[in-house]
Amino acid sequence: MTEKLSVSAARNESAIGKNAKLQGWVRTRRDSKAGFSFIEINDGSSQGNIQIVAPGEMDNYQSEVKSLTAGCSITASGEIKESGGRGQATEMLADSIEVHGWADPDTYPLQKKRHSYEKLRDWAHLRPRTNTFGAVARVRNCISNSIHQFFQEQSFLYVNTPIITASDCEGAGEMFQVTTMDLNKIAAEKIEKLNYRFDFFDKPSYLTVSGQLEAETYACALGKVYTFAPTFRAENSNTSRHLAEFWMVEPEMAFFELPDNMDLAESLLKRIFGDALSRCGEDMAFFNERVDETHTLLERLQNVIDSDFVRLPYTEAVEILIKSGQEFDYKVEWGIDLQSEHERFLTEHHFKKPVILFDYPDTIKPFYMYCNDDGKTVRAMDVLVPGVGEIIGGSQREHRLEVLERRMKLQDLDIEEYWWYADLRRFGTVPHAGFGLGLERAVQFVTGMSNIRDVIPFPRTPGNAEF
Ligand code: ATP
Ligand code: MG
Repeated sequence: MTEKLSVSAARNESAIGKNAKLQGWVRTRRDSKAGFSFIEINDGSSQGNIQIVAPGEMDNYQSEVKSLTAGCSITASGEIKESGGRGQATEMLADSIEVHGWADPDTYPLQKKRHSYEKLRDWAHLRPRTNTFGAVARVRNCISNSIHQFFQEQSFLYVNTPIITASDCEGAGEMFQVTTMDLNKIAAEKIEKLNYRFDFFDKPSYLTVSGQLEAETYACALGKVYTFAPTFRAENSNTSRHLAEFWMVEPEMAFFELPDNMDLAESLLKRIFGDALSRCGEDMAFFNERVDETHTLLERLQNVIDSDFVRLPYTEAVEILIKSGQEFDYKVEWGIDLQSEHERFLTEHHFKKPVILFDYPDTIKPFYMYCNDDGKTVRAMDVLVPGVGEIIGGSQREHRLEVLERRMKLQDLDIEEYWWYADLRRFGTVPHAGFGLGLERAVQFVTGMSNIRDVIPFPRTPGNAEF
């Protein structure tokens, strides 16, 4: 009986003695003087490859096997044997090899030499065939799975909020407008004032910047919910931590206050990091050795899992920054929105571990955050981690209607537009809280990949929407 095995399964000692079929893409071929060849293939199931020994007696040995190059796809059949080679438990002694597709070595971009991550972005359709991007894809998958498991185990409901929305979650980010109006015609006819009655939704509509407001409606009926969906921000910031399209996990909980929210955020992150270490051992070892310059990635992650996150009010953070004597590009004073350099100072130099900052000035935070009694701060929280900076942003929500309306007026928002959001406060209001975790920032932290464009399959950034 021939069993179809993944490379990952075939690399395990328990496969020894099995008659198997292996399918994948050739990484390398080496010919031995003794008249046979070693072919390494990978099928994406694991970081490591499996070696196939192809005897010279095969029918197509001269005609095909000896022409195999990186990128060719094959099916190899034969027996899995114990391997004498170093660093591999098993190999296949093949009795047949079928070639499905050739990859011309003169034009196939992924030859053996190492390419820069920048260059590989031009080949985003082929880069998952490299060690690094295969590993990123597997770790990203592990993290997504952990997120669902974490919430499902605690009886959160997974809810789906709309991608197209007419509310803007109060300037969480610049928005992409969605329209069916003919922009060329509008330009040609020099129409200045658009009449949205002729647009698809009868009013200006956008790609969502956050599912929070809608998630709140479900939390205020069903208790604990979370969304996990794409989010869009037309931020013209070409940084290594921003995408125009990214994935966000947004839990929202009724009868939750800020400390509960912090506990949940901390345990979610620890769960994700722990699962990556225990479930993706081989890939994580690869990131530690080959991606992280200091080879301390595994140690850093373990430290984060074992440590208590620092919880620090914004006001104290500002005092620490001012007293530090550090030269920052942006001067620190109470009331400013902390810049990435400040956040990094706190988490990378001062505390050397994750920091949850909370109680921010109300002037720099959106209308929906709960107002503290001091009359100047709101119950916002940002979770900062070394290397990445902000990974989570959240808050306890304002559940008192009059306070909410006052804040909306102060921020020049049209209260009528948010009538349904206000209704949650009008009918059976409850304290509630939630946060948003950027999936890509989490993948960056876990893998140590420095650019966010390299942890999502097809990055969308200003000027880039290829593939
Ligand atoms: P930042 O200050 O880093 O721009 P933000 O404060 O605008 O982020 P939030 O609105 O709090 O972000 O969004 C919640 C989370 O979503 C952030 O903590 C981050 O992990 C992620 N996130 C926000 N914007 C982006 C983006 N443009 N690309 C990727 N992830 C993002
Ligand atoms: Mg934020």
